[in-house]
Amino acid sequence: MMLSLINRLKLNQVLFVSHLLLVLVIILGLSWARYHSEWSSRVAHAAALANLAMNDVVGDISTAVSGNSYATMLMPSAVDKFNNINSLRFFDVSGYSDYSTKPYGLRYFREQSLADNEARSGKVWQTQVTEAVLMDALAKVDRLKAVKQHSNAKKVDFLLNKAEQNYLSLINSFELSLNFKLPWKQPEIALDGYFLDSKTRSLHTRLPLRNKNGGAVWAVFDASELYSLRAEVLQSIYGEAFVALMLSSLIIIISTRWIVLPLKRLTQHMAQDINEIELEAIAELKREDEIGVLARDFSALITRSKLQLQLLKQQSEVDPLTGLGSRLKYSQSVEAFIKTSRQQPDYFGLIICDVDHFKAYNDIYGHGQGDIVLTSVAQAIRQPLRETDGAFRIGGEEFVILVRVAAATDVQRLAERVRRAMLEQQIPHKGNQQHQFVTLSVGALAVDLRQFSKRIAFSQLFEMADKALYQAKNNGRNQVIFSQYNSYKETS
Ligand code: GH3
Ligand code: MG
Ligand code: MG
Repeated sequence: MMLSLINRLKLNQVLFVSHLLLVLVIILGLSWARYHSEWSSRVAHAAALANLAMNDVVGDISTAVSGNSYATMLMPSAVDKFNNINSLRFFDVSGYSDYSTKPYGLRYFREQSLADNEARSGKVWQTQVTEAVLMDALAKVDRLKAVKQHSNAKKVDFLLNKAEQNYLSLINSFELSLNFKLPWKQPEIALDGYFLDSKTRSLHTRLPLRNKNGGAVWAVFDASELYSLRAEVLQSIYGEAFVALMLSSLIIIISTRWIVLPLKRLTQHMAQDINEIELEAIAELKREDEIGVLARDFSALITRSKLQLQLLKQQSEVDPLTGLGSRLKYSQSVEAFIKTSRQQPDYFGLIICDVDHFKAYNDIYGHGQGDIVLTSVAQAIRQPLRETDGAFRIGGEEFVILVRVAAATDVQRLAERVRRAMLEQQIPHKGNQQHQFVTLSVGALAVDLRQFSKRIAFSQLFEMADKALYQAKNNGRNQVIFSQYNSYKETS
C-alpha cells in the first residue's frame, strides 16, 4: 500500500516530502530541546531570585520561631516587610521553638487580583491557636481586670491592655485559621527545592529555618510574569523554527530542482530521434556529479549508435563486392533522380546491363573467378560515368545506370561506351562461343522529361528498359538496344 503510493510519486515529490519530513523532525526536536532548557533555566532563575528576596525574612522568622514569639511577626513593620516582597503571595511557617516542644505556626497571605496599593495589604496570623489557648488568654484578661479593681497601678493598666490586645490578636488568628481556604495544594518539595504550578501559575519554594530545632517556610510566589516570559520564549522559538523551516524548504526546492530538472531535460533529449539529438546542447555534460556521468554515458551511447547507424546505412547502401550502389540504394535513389531531373528540361536515362552467359562462366572458371568478373563489370560501368550519375548492382550479374543528359542519344552513347569498355578488357570466356570474351548485353531507355507523364510509374520505365535488354539477348548478345519513352528506336 505504502510502496505503491511511493511508486506513484514523482522523483521530485519523493525528494521534497522525505526532506521536508526530515527537516520537520530536526526542527521540532531542536526547538523542543531549546524550549525545555530555556524554560527550565528561567524557572530555576526565578526560584533563586524568590529565595534571595526571602533571605532576610527567613532570618527574622527563624529568630521568632526559636523564641516562640509571634508579636514581632504580627507587627505592622514586619507585615510591611512581607508586603514589600513583590511577588510573594503566601507563606506558611512550621517549626519548633528552641526551648519548648510547642509547635510554631504562622501564615501570611495576600490577594493577587487587587490593585497595587491594596495588594500590599497582606495578612499575618498564627495557625496554632486552639480554643484552650483562647480561654487562657481570656482568663488572663479577666484576672487583670479583677486586679485593676483593687489597684490603680499603671503597670496593671499596661498589662491589661497588652493582654486584651493579645486576646484580640488570638481571636483574629483563630477566625482566620478557621475561615482561610488555601488556593493551592501544598506540593511535596525538598528543602531548598521549588515547584512551578502551571494551573495556578504559582511558584512554590521550601526554605529551611535557621533556629536550633529546625522547621521550614513554604512560600508561594506569583509566577504570572514568568509565564509572560514563557510566551516570549515560545514566540522567539516559533519564529526561529519558522525561519529555519522556510530556509530549509527553499534549500529542498533548489536541491530537488538541481537533481530533477536536469534528469527531465535528459529524458527529453533521449526521447528525440537519434539523428536529431544535438549533443552539444546537453548542458548536463558539464556537471561533475552522477547526473554529469549519466549525461556523458548517454552522449557516448548516442555517438556510438550514430556511428553504428551510419555504418549500417553505408553497408546497406553499398554492394560489398563491387562498391557500386546496392539494390536498396537504387530503389531509394530512383524517385529523387527523376524529381531532380524534372527540374531541368532534359533527358533521363535508364540503362540495364547483364553479363552474357554468366552461368556458363561460373561453371567453367569457378564462382570465385566469376566474382572477379563482376568487379571488372563494375569498373567498365564506372569508367564513363560522371559524379551525378548513379550505378547500382541490383541482382547477381545485373547492373543499372541512372543518368541525366542533354540529348536522348547521349544515353545510347553512354550505354555503348560501357559495353565497349567491357569487351576491351578481353576477359576470356569460352562459354560465350560467339565472342570468346566476357561481354555485356545492354537495354537503354531515354526519357524526354518534357513528355514524361507524371502518372507513369517508374516500374513501367524499368520494364521498357528490361524489354530492350531482352531484345539485345535475343539479337545475339554483346550489344545495346536503345529505346525512347513513347517510341522505340533500335540500334545495334
Ligand atoms: P544470359 O546470357 O542469358 O544472361 O545467361 P546467364 O547465364 O548470364 O543468365 P542466368 O540468369 O541464367 O545466370 C546468371 C548467373 O549468374 C547465375 C549465377 O550462377 C550467377 N551469379 C549470380 N550472382 C552471382 C555472384 O554474386 N557471383 C558469381 N560468381 N555468380 C553469380
Ligand atoms: Mg541475368
Ligand atoms: Mg546473364
